[in-house]
Amino acid sequence: MESIFSKIVAGQIPCYKVAENDSFLAFLDINPLAKGHVLVIPKVQVDYIFDLDEETFIQLHLFAKSVAIAMKKAITCNRIGVTVIGLEVPHAHIHLIPINEVNDMNFSNKKLTLSSSEMLDIANHINSFF
Ligand code: 5GP
Repeated sequence: MESIFSKIVAGQIPCYKVAENDSFLAFLDINPLAKGHVLVIPKVQVDYIFDLDEETFIQLHLFAKSVAIAMKKAITCNRIGVTVIGLEVPHAHIHLIPINEVNDMNFSNKKLTLSSSEMLDIANHINSFF
């Protein structure tokens, strides 16, 4: 079955795109922990990140690194936190989250509600540094 992220890759569901190449896509998390919370995915649908073939696994992380560098330029924060959870969507993805302190990475925190124009502005702003 197609994951929701495969539908995003296929353009069947919209996203706030941050960066893309032939094999990988970065877009804003729809329920962000922080402004500029990004998900980085391989376009190929594999549920568990450690089931990715080695080359895709490595290239996914290199792509995530270039996205994180752009995020750090675009957003005022101490670090870009990186984590993998994968309990909700069965399509491998890396969370990149602008953080100032360790608690900013707590997925139990209340999610932000941002307008679509704010989301679009953030995605375009990060993209301008990519
Ligand atoms: P995880 O699988 O890592 O536990 O969580 C999946 C993440 O994907 C969550 O942070 C959730 O907000 C995000 N998410 C779920 N569905 C969508 C969607 O349709 N679009 C976007 N942009 N993010 C989603």
